[in-house]
Formats: sequence, structure tokens, C-alpha cells
Amino acid sequence: MEKFGSPRNIRDDCPVSPTALEKAQFAKTYIEMKYSQKKKQEEEKIIEWEKINRHMNDLGLSATEKKIMKSEILHNEAQKLRENRREISVFDFEPESIIGRGAFGEVRIVRHKKTGEVFAMKKMKKSDMINKNQVQHVKSERNILALAQNDWVVELKYSFQDENYLYLVMEYLSGGDLMNILIKRDILPENEARIYLAECIMAVESVHKLNYIHRDLKPDNILIGVDGHLKLADFGLCKCNDLSYANPFENLTKLEEDYSQKIATRHERNRKLLYSTVGTPDYIAPEVFSRAGYDERVDWWSLGVIFFEMVVGYPPFYADEPKVTCQRILNWKRTFKIPEEAKLSPEAQDLINKLITDKNNRLGTNGANEIKNHPFFIGVDWENLRNKPALWIPQVDSEVDSRNFDKFEEIEAFYPPIPFQKKKSKRKDGNFIGFTFKKNR
Ligand code: ADP
Ligand code: MG
Repeated sequence: MEKFGSPRNIRDDCPVSPTALEKAQFAKTYIEMKYSQKKKQEEEKIIEWEKINRHMNDLGLSATEKKIMKSEILHNEAQKLRENRREISVFDFEPESIIGRGAFGEVRIVRHKKTGEVFAMKKMKKSDMINKNQVQHVKSERNILALAQNDWVVELKYSFQDENYLYLVMEYLSGGDLMNILIKRDILPENEARIYLAECIMAVESVHKLNYIHRDLKPDNILIGVDGHLKLADFGLCKCNDLSYANPFENLTKLEEDYSQKIATRHERNRKLLYSTVGTPDYIAPEVFSRAGYDERVDWWSLGVIFFEMVVGYPPFYADEPKVTCQRILNWKRTFKIPEEAKLSPEAQDLINKLITDKNNRLGTNGANEIKNHPFFIGVDWENLRNKPALWIPQVDSEVDSRNFDKFEEIEAFYPPIPFQKKKSKRKDGNFIGFTFKKNR
């Protein structure tokens, strides 16, 4: 008879579902991070109180005066905590201009009514997410943004939901995205492309270190901050790395679905602002289309394509029809060629050829250092990229200036209709439990 409490035998033919694995991986990393943050906060608090006590002694306060002061400090702190715990909603923000419109909603500049802080708010329609099978994607995006908290990933401030929408409130990067720079500049000289590419490599490495693959790297998802340095955005297709290595369920149909749902990418190769309803496959690695599975090396391929585009002026597999682009990527051995007219340095050509290649020979297979050590990057001070003056500092008049973005028309009201305002949802929406997030301040 089977003993109670004996460990369950997890057999190879009975794999845990990808969703469960991703949740577990996220929970583990999140708890570890939270715990280390909490410990740090407690230590800081002790130091803070020691300082306050010293200060009160220096002022020569009496015991009663000290007691009064302490209780006042504690009262203020409690109020701040209460304020922090309050449920946040779209009504805490004033709308400014719309700066992006995508598959599931829009991105707009907003101002926090109480603090006056300016953010970018990505709003996504729940029904669309459910109908198009994107629930897991939006959860992954929220998870990685909440987890990352490093200089290379756009910072998530809050996430919340109401009846119809999910909201991600992020820092606003006023410099626009890399696509805008490419549209304006057409071709970047190698020494400029080197810096942008180096920053992209640091950013991608930081995501891989958290066990995530971005999977949708392209110039419109690389944003430029007010200081001119880059950050990654749009993790709507990102995936927990651990799963993709040997995920028996990952097949062509699923992947095709993932990518085809991700619509409304800007730009075509003539660099006109077109809004297509099909995601551009230009940056996708060939193994993504096959059944063999793929891993974080797909991001290095995408960076190879972005680098090619920066220095040549168009992406290597471009075609009017996305289907043709896919065919060209799959047949890259025949279709890929660096044009001689581009007059690239031998180092740049070598780097491109080592990124746009079979995954087993691809630079980055043994980690990001392999790419960083390529001769094209000689002289790059990797750890200090963000401390150096940027190549281009965006011009902005105010915090809400949207000049570095395309213009978008208002389609629907920013605030939900009145009945929803008062209505407190009694039950949490089962599809999006755990979506809410507030950054520790
Ligand atoms: P989609 O899934 O629709 O591509 P993105 O997250 O890429 O959504 O956002 C669409 C566009 O909105 C981006 O290409 C960028 O131009 C702009 N954008 C998104 N997030 C921010 C942000 N935090 N700061 C500034 N612009 C942003
Ligand atoms: Mg995008």
C-alpha cells in the first residue's frame, strides 16, 4: 500500500504545466527579492531610529518631549503606510497625450493627481486579452517588470485593474524609442551603433539573468530615457527561460499564435509610419518557427538584426509580406547577405555574421561575455555605459512633452463611465488575480 506523505513521483511523461512552472519560478525569485528588501528596510529603520535618538539627545529634549516627538514620527509613518495600502485606480491620474497604441490598448502619459509625478500608463482591454489568449502574456509582462528593478528595464510603479482594463503604470521615458531614432537618422555610424548595441546587450543580459527571454526585441521596444540611455520595454511576449528549453507543449501553432496576436507594430522598411495589423516578424530567430524548441539565444539573434538595421538602414529579411519575411528568415543561409555598399568594417561584419547564424554557432551561446569580448567592442567600458554622456540627449520642454513620439488620436475616454466609478468590484476577477503591484517607496 502506498504510504501517506511519500514524495510524489514526478515523471517525465507527466510534466508540470508551463503556467504552473512560470508561477513557481516567479514566486521563488519574488519572495527571495522581497525578503532581502525587507531585511534591508529593517536594518535601515534601526539606523534611522539611532539617528533620531542621537539628534533628540543633542537637542537636550526632556523625556516627555522625546516621547511626544517619537509618537508624532510613528503617527506620520503609519499614515504613510495607510496611504500606500490604499487601492489605486485610474482616477488617481490625470490624462495627458497618447504616445503609443498597440494590440490591446494604448500607452499614454499621465500625471499622478496627488504627487504630480509623470508616468506612462499602458492600458489593456481584459476582454481582448482573454479572447486572444493573452492572459498569460500580460501576467508575464507584469511579473518581469515587477521583478527586474534594474536600470535597463523600464520601471514599473503600479499595476492595477478595473472592470474592463488592466493598467501598467511605468516611468515615462521621454526620448521616444529606437525606431524613431532610426527613422530620423536612417543609418548610424558604427561608433554610434556600437554604444546603442552595447547598452542593448547589457539590458538583454539583465533580463536573462532573471531567467526571462524577451522574445520580442525590436527597435520600437527599446526606449530612450531623458538622459539618452536605453531601457527595454514591452515584455508582452517574454517567457520564463526555464520552460522553453524542454517544453514538450511548445509547438509551432502556439508560437505562431503568440507572435500573430502581437499586432500593431509600427514601421515598415521604407521607414514610413505605417500601422500594420500583423506583427513584424523581421527580428524573430529562425528556431522560433521550428518545433525544436528555443532558448535565450533568440534575443541575441534579434540584436544582430537590430544592429544590421542600424548600420545598413533596413532589416536583413524585410519583405512587403510578413509571410515572405518568415520564409527568408527560415532560409537565412541562402537569403542573408551583408551588402557591400554598406561598407561595414570587418569587425562589424564579423559580429553580424556571428549573431545572425545558427543557434549553436551563435555568439552568446556561452553567455553575454562572449559578445562583449568581440573585437567590435574593443574599448567599451561595459560597467559604466550609463555613467557616460549619451549620444543624443532628447529635447523636452516639460515632463509631459511627447514630441519624441508619434501623434495619436483620442479614441475612447480615459476614465471609465460613471457607474463603474462607484461600483466596488465585490469579487476579484479570476483571470487576473495577483495583478496588482505597488513599488516600495
Ligand atoms: P505594444 O505591446 O502595443 O507594442 P508597448 O509596451 O511596446 O506595447 O508600447 C507601445 C509603444 O508605447 C512603445 O513602442 C513606445 O513608443 C511607447 N511606450 C511604451 N512604454 C513606454 C514608457 N514607459 N515610456 C515611454 N514610452 C513608452
Ligand atoms: Mg511594442
